[in-house]
Amino acid sequence: MSSLESAEADQFDLPVLGHYIDGNEVAGEGRACDVFNPASGQVSKRVAMADAEAFERTVLAAHQAFPAWRHTPPQKRAQILFRFKQLLEEHADEICALITAEHGKVLDDARGELGRGIEVVEYACGISELLKGEFSKNAGPNIDSWSEFQPLGIVAGITPFNFPAMVPMWMFPLAIACGNTFILKPSERDPSPSVYVAKLFTEAGLPDGVFNVLNGDKETVDLILNDERIQAVSFVGSTPIAESIYQRGTDAGKRVQALGGAKNHAVVMPDADVDNAVSALMGAAYGSCGERCMAISVAVCVGEDVANKVVTRLENRINELKVGPGEDVSNDMGPLITKDALNRIHSYIEQGLGQDAELVVDGRDLVVPGHEKGFFVGGCLFDEVTAGMSIYTDEIFGPVLCVVRVKDLDEAMTLINKHEYGNGTCVFTRDGETARYFSDNIQVGMVGINVALPVPVACQSFGGWKRSLFGDLYVYGPDAIRFYTRRKTMTQRWPASDRTEKARFSFPSGS
Ligand code: NAD
Repeated sequence: MSSLESAEADQFDLPVLGHYIDGNEVAGEGRACDVFNPASGQVSKRVAMADAEAFERTVLAAHQAFPAWRHTPPQKRAQILFRFKQLLEEHADEICALITAEHGKVLDDARGELGRGIEVVEYACGISELLKGEFSKNAGPNIDSWSEFQPLGIVAGITPFNFPAMVPMWMFPLAIACGNTFILKPSERDPSPSVYVAKLFTEAGLPDGVFNVLNGDKETVDLILNDERIQAVSFVGSTPIAESIYQRGTDAGKRVQALGGAKNHAVVMPDADVDNAVSALMGAAYGSCGERCMAISVAVCVGEDVANKVVTRLENRINELKVGPGEDVSNDMGPLITKDALNRIHSYIEQGLGQDAELVVDGRDLVVPGHEKGFFVGGCLFDEVTAGMSIYTDEIFGPVLCVVRVKDLDEAMTLINKHEYGNGTCVFTRDGETARYFSDNIQVGMVGINVALPVPVACQSFGGWKRSLFGDLYVYGPDAIRFYTRRKTMTQRWPASDRTEKARFSFPSGS
């Protein structure tokens, strides 16, 4: 039964979350979808799915808001962003409670996510500096030339369930700081933080229509892709959808960046500090129940000795993991997002067993007292995994760590470079030469040296290689300024009024 079909009579009195259009919360009409509390397994509310009418209303609001917002001085935009940042901090508890209630992650983890989102708002506060442009005096005789960066118009963002606050904030603060208006289509699984945050942005002084939240699913995404008034799309989600959105969006003449899935490998070298590597692996593999695009899902151990130590220590640590509802801050790991996700993890465990991987820790039988219907699974660990197995090739997106044993660094790097994804990776070593060789030659977009989750800070940019990113520019940081603006280059000359110039037929050059 799909979540749309389950809208039976017994659910008719559940609250329905609408949209945020033109500075107001708007009730949705027509279709709606269930939102679950993953810790209880119960439907907690419903969310409206935007129809063509809600979509049109949103595009019109964003279109009408654009001319004035575009001409608002960047310093003034920054002042609103400053107030927005303050409000996000003041309301952090409410935002994190919404994240945990709908996503399931532990409250502390929700705080970490929100903090990383706020960092992007802080970066966007420097928009006057970031939009300064480039100037060349005397580009030719008495000629000056400069480039400025103009906003595109209406920009859309389509985001996944796993970071309901942070991933939207990778996009809209900078798009808006650059002078665009924005339509966010958050994940239908955990839509509430986006609507809440939109209200705070209005409270901070953002003019109506500049930031809109349109809830929906594939139908809403189709409306976005088919509308020529929308100039650009930022997408984050799974690779098949990212690839299709990139193709459809660029075919329709839009600028598109589409970030996809991942399979992130951590290499543990024989000289690594094994205890610290294991601690880092625990957080990176099992934090947020493995539902992170930067989660480490493969530990590549170089040499049998390191592999044996890593597996034994991981096994002990996994057995100590505290799994339960995210509201209880003493828990390390919350539930998965949906029943479907839980079934998918169980299916991959079966596949791993069928392909002769060694299941060292099996989290399938975990029961959380009082939460028997929640979407919980314990940490799982496979050893003796090889490159042909589906548990190695596929993004499982759950708390399942695979150990692959290799003989040397080159074998580890060949394995990683051959994988279809190239989002994040890490090497644990005490040797600088190894670290430098690894970071120079690995075919992955974000690399950690003794850092398991090398998520770039806001003044850098975030993105992967290979089938983890379709498009040319990463999200946030300097790449976002380029993505959300269009360069215009002016060349200027003021001829002396007392001289008549001859026509010149050769191509103008600087000499
Ligand atoms: P998803 O691809 O199912 O959904 C992402 C968005 O696309 C949602 O808003 C959803 O409503 C929409 N969508 C779903 N099906 C669609 C369709 N057929 N046509 C058009 N739109 C559709 O992803 P998810 O399950 O929400 O999130 C998990 C995935 O996101 C994982 O693969 C994870 O690796 C990836 N992710 C990647 C990054 C990154 O930076 N590379 C970051 C976070 C998550």
